[in-house]
Amino acid sequence: MNTQKTDMSLQIERRGIMLVLSSPSGAGKSTIAREVLSKEQNLKLSVSVTTRDRRGSEIDGTHYHFISDREFDRMRDSDSLLEWAQVHSNFYGTPADPVEDALNNGKDMLFDIDWQGGLQLMEKARIDVVSIFILPPSLEELKSRLVRRAEDAPEVIEKRLENAMNEIPHWSDYDYVVVNDDLERAFGQVSAILQAERLRRDRRPGLFDYVNRLIG
Ligand code: 5GP
Repeated sequence: MNTQKTDMSLQIERRGIMLVLSSPSGAGKSTIAREVLSKEQNLKLSVSVTTRDRRGSEIDGTHYHFISDREFDRMRDSDSLLEWAQVHSNFYGTPADPVEDALNNGKDMLFDIDWQGGLQLMEKARIDVVSIFILPPSLEELKSRLVRRAEDAPEVIEKRLENAMNEIPHWSDYDYVVVNDDLERAFGQVSAILQAERLRRDRRPGLFDYVNRLIG
């Protein structure tokens, strides 16, 4: 009896969610994203294209598609990008095709993008987007996380701190705000948001069939 109930609810058709995570560099967004992606089966990362140089720990095609300026221009001009932005003097963009495929198949996608991209997605796909802004517990902590990461040169770190001051004021455009003072707690909060949003009635057209079957 219980098994049947579970099976039925799993079959309720729903449209995928676009889970947008934004924050200044160093607020822990990528760590939270990695954690959520590893624990959530129905969630895939949207792999962005970027013109910035690959860092030593990054894999082409997994963390980003690393492309030339020319290729970026071509993708942007042919409408192959759902959104794009210039961040820290490099270009970044979200390839459109994988997103549409995922959403139509009821799969959720996670976007680790800046506020400019977040706003573009909210404008284009308001009902599909769930947006979360991650804030650091303090500026000192933000700075020490950037230094600890040590993958960037000191002047790059300075630039990222400066950019953080421009990024933070955009918190108020987002649906949810999570303060990352404790990774486990922040991860738990992002997870809870995702679970709740998946249950929203207006995302689940399959509920009509489900209820019809339920009450015959
Ligand atoms: P990083 O160079 O440290 O990987 O990323 C720099 C910033 O660019 C981060 O805030 C990251 O979220 C953002 N970013 C990464 N991919 C995209 C994208 O496709 N679009 C936009 N708008 N921002 C992105």
